[in-house]
Amino acid sequence: MLEAAIKQQLDQYLQLMEGDVVLRVSAGEDKVSNEMLELVNELASMSSRISVERATLERTPSFSVNRPSEETGIVFAGIPLGHEFTSLVLALLQVSGRAPKVDADTIKQIQNIEGTYHFESYISLSCHNCPDVVQALNVMSVLNSNITHTMIDGAAFKDEVEAKEIMAVPTVFLNGESFGNGRMSLEEILAKLGTGPDASAFSDKDPYDVLVVGGGPAGASAAVYAARKGIRTGIIAERFGGQVMDTMGIENFIGTAYTEGPKLVASLEEHVKEYGIDVMNLQRAKRLEKKDLVEIELENGAVLKSKSVILSTGARWRNVNVPGEAEFKNKGVAYCPHCDGPLFEGKRVAVIGGGNSGIEAAIDLAGIVKHVTVLEFAPELKADQVLQDRLHSLPNVTVITNAQTTEITGTDKVNGISYVSRETNESHHVELEGVFVQIGLVPNTDWLDSVERNNFGEIVVDRHGATNVPGVFAAGDCTNSAYKQIIISMGSGATAALGAFDYMIRN
Ligand SMILES: Cc1cc2nc3c(=O)[nH]c(=O)nc-3n(C[C@H](O)[C@H](O)[C@H](O)COP(=O)(O)OP(=O)(O)OC[C@H]3O[C@@H](n4cnc5c(N)ncnc54)[C@H](O)[C@@H]3O)c2cc1C
Repeated sequence: MLEAAIKQQLDQYLQLMEGDVVLRVSAGEDKVSNEMLELVNELASMSSRISVERATLERTPSFSVNRPSEETGIVFAGIPLGHEFTSLVLALLQVSGRAPKVDADTIKQIQNIEGTYHFESYISLSCHNCPDVVQALNVMSVLNSNITHTMIDGAAFKDEVEAKEIMAVPTVFLNGESFGNGRMSLEEILAKLGTGPDASAFSDKDPYDVLVVGGGPAGASAAVYAARKGIRTGIIAERFGGQVMDTMGIENFIGTAYTEGPKLVASLEEHVKEYGIDVMNLQRAKRLEKKDLVEIELENGAVLKSKSVILSTGARWRNVNVPGEAEFKNKGVAYCPHCDGPLFEGKRVAVIGGGNSGIEAAIDLAGIVKHVTVLEFAPELKADQVLQDRLHSLPNVTVITNAQTTEITGTDKVNGISYVSRETNESHHVELEGVFVQIGLVPNTDWLDSVERNNFGEIVVDRHGATNVPGVFAAGDCTNSAYKQIIISMGSGATAALGAFDYMIRN
């Protein structure tokens, strides 16, 4: 079942197993069950540490990954290939006794969780955001016997997905109740469970020389540049990695022909940690005030002080702000075609937005769904010509320009989209099951009041990255830089850090 190259790689990983693992398989007579049996038997044939037993589990086909004398609570329902193959390999290694790559504090935090937690994560094998969630929940199950986790491939359990009206992956349930959607790191899951630090954990922090707010490429670069000056540097991030965590392939990071978002974020994190920078992840800043020092208040009430601050809070998906968008989010309204596209297989969808991201989404979706309607507000598409040519070559795409979306309709989930033609003023309604919003980004600057921003909400900076507030600098997508790209954000992060250092030595 496994290709020769994958088998060769897998072979090396299986040699790292430290103890025996028992795969308990619940299989029927169906095709997926047979393929699952083939996979687990192939694994067992590759390592004497793996054995297979037949069992009856809650879902068929599924299998659990256990120690010989102890059930771990890790179950894969459906076949964990595609993006989930790594989740399976890691589960085998960790259940065999190999320590997960998680820091000691987090391990302690997980081991101290009391109560019963049964997680179920619905995923698609093509979702690049799903493995993080699956692997985090598996690590929690390995480390704490109160916690169990079942990964469920939506394609293998379509009835369940329909019944639960799941239209975005990953979707996680905890003890049968909705817990969360989208990519979540282990730390984010723990914070959601209420095990994260409160304000008291920040109360004895000395003032920083440079405090960076935002942990995307701009913030990471600013922090490294500042710390290399030998000054006390901290970084607060609501989610370390920023937009890069949501990016699949990156082909324009000069010097690296191809990489993937999470991989780049892992190396950013590693680089930042090399310099002893105080990284405060999963913390959101809500107030900035310039006194003698600059004060940053966090959502949890803690107040951090610094001689200078670099704002690098980036941007988020722009909402279309029509009735139905908020109501049907994850019930047919989606923002990530790579993640959620497979859930709309054979269905009709719309893409709002005719820029590069919208047209890339439409091309991607056209290969999965029955039909794509592209709605563009302007008289023509704004995407690169090469993308437009590819789009127009597809048989199942309709492009409507001059279309102002007025409503996303539905009852319990999306059933259509309404728009007004800006040419004729006529209203139209298209029946469909999904809407992908792809109309660009909005800067994360609404929490700032004293810092000057332009009409788009972008922070206005000079060529040193300085804002109108002395000691406050800014970088990346949250600023009025002409272009928003990883490499540009990193460059402006470096500029802001050098600007901040210059400011400090002069003051
Ligand atoms: C789907 C997608 C694909 C892309 N592909 C590419 C590509 O191939 N190549 C390329 O060069 N660019 C690409 N980009 C653009 C690129 O990702 C951005 O230009 C870049 O990430 C901007 O970096 P940044 O650090 O300014 O902001 P972000 O990456 O947005 O990071 C902002 C950081 O600030 C944090 N934050 C926000 N508000 C607060 C707050 N109040 N308190 C604390 N922290 C906060 C966030 O959690 C995050 O850590 C892509 C973007 C997207 C969305």
